Amino acid sequence: MQIAIVGTGYVGLVSGVCLAAKGHHVTCVDINPDIVTRLNEGRPHIYEKGLPELLSSVRSKGLFEAATDLEVALDKVDIVMLAVGTPSEDGVIDLRFVLEAARQIGAYIGSHDKHISVVVKSTVIPGTTDTVVRAAIEEASGKSFPSFGLGMNPEFLREGEAIEDFIEPDRIILGCEDARTRQRLETLYAPWSADKLHVNTRTAELIKYANNALLATQISAINEIANLAASLGGIDIMDVVRGVHLDKRWNPFAPDGSRVSPQILTYLVPGCGFGGSCFPKDVQAIRSLGEQLGLPMNMMNAVLDVNDSQPKQVLNIIEHDFPDVAGKSVLVLGLAFKPETDDVRESASLKIIDTLLAKGAKVAAHDPVASKNFKKALGASADEILFVDDWKRQIANVDVVIVATKWKQYETLSGIDLQGKLLFDARRMFAPTELTNAAYRSIGRRVA
Ligand code: NAD
Repeated sequence: MQIAIVGTGYVGLVSGVCLAAKGHHVTCVDINPDIVTRLNEGRPHIYEKGLPELLSSVRSKGLFEAATDLEVALDKVDIVMLAVGTPSEDGVIDLRFVLEAARQIGAYIGSHDKHISVVVKSTVIPGTTDTVVRAAIEEASGKSFPSFGLGMNPEFLREGEAIEDFIEPDRIILGCEDARTRQRLETLYAPWSADKLHVNTRTAELIKYANNALLATQISAINEIANLAASLGGIDIMDVVRGVHLDKRWNPFAPDGSRVSPQILTYLVPGCGFGGSCFPKDVQAIRSLGEQLGLPMNMMNAVLDVNDSQPKQVLNIIEHDFPDVAGKSVLVLGLAFKPETDDVRESASLKIIDTLLAKGAKVAAHDPVASKNFKKALGASADEILFVDDWKRQIANVDVVIVATKWKQYETLSGIDLQGKLLFDARRMFAPTELTNAAYRSIGRRVA
């Protein structure tokens, strides 16, 4: 099939390259000409494992190209996906980019005698595709639905494992408002054997939010219990977690008697809070939607409240050892919101470093790939931070090391002499006894 994708960020680019890898002809459209130039030179503008290789492979087969001209791209296709950003504006998603793209597609539909299915892939609140997106296309085209098609195909990829998630998904949700769009989406995803669920567009939209809201709830629940353990003292939350993980409802037995250890258990480990471009934004959006409808949204409020204050736990616990961190030197390891990505949106490190700077600490920071994005996100206060490449060498100069992102290379900390240092393991990467000579501190475990 020939397909166009509008918006070539983390979702649009990975989707485009993976759809091409399955044999479709894909044009990824973006308003940013630098992104388009880079992609047509085979150089992805985002960091994602396996992406450069896959991009190069699909380009060499003539299955992928990037473009700024939407009209030229639409000439070739009968299905166009929207993967533009839906950033949060005071807890409500900003549909500016979705509506702009919908209007541009609408203008094309208005001046061409051709049926095109417009499929939203961006995360949008339930009722967006079948009301505001539909209205924007109708207004710009002067034509009424169903003279164009409408679909919603939420994306569940996780940055850092995005290619694998897209190539081997656990499910494909196909939200459709018309039979032609359903048929086209079936053809598009025919190369995939994953479970496919056919629903209407607003159900597809809510599946995405329900999924993320439930995962975020699990994280905040264990974080709240971890904070309780830290307040009580004499308990390491990881011992509690291990006990909970032995419940067969969380961790069933396989037929051979071993434990299945499902991935969901990794969401039941305490840390300094969830971040990234999805969980915080999506939980806020669903809360705002509920409140607009007059619902109390107690659960979502609690999930967000716990998460907002979770990075502060890092400082609360450090302050047991150093009641005044002013003038102390701190090295923050990991700036991306999770390992294997350069995305720093809503990263816990942003909040941790903000607090450290506000309290007068001297901050050095390292990340294998995200320092550039982090500097941009931090703005002027980035000048107050020493960004280092050689984090091992920097350890000699600091009082405190905070592991804020679980990058694999930080595992080598266990082989480094940390005599006289305080090591704060915000992601529970190490066993407390594993680090040589360090005073080990973490979430859910108060020592002092
Ligand atoms: P992003 O910010 O990385 O990319 C968006 C891209 O859209 C940018 O490159 C921007 O230049 C481009 N754009 C904006 N308006 C445009 C227009 N009119 N025409 C062409 N291009 C335009 O965003 P993202 O992280 O890829 O997220 C996209 C959507 O997918 C969001 O709704 C997000 O919530 C959702 N989502 C993201 C993830 C993730 O892990 N990042 C996972 C699942 C779903």
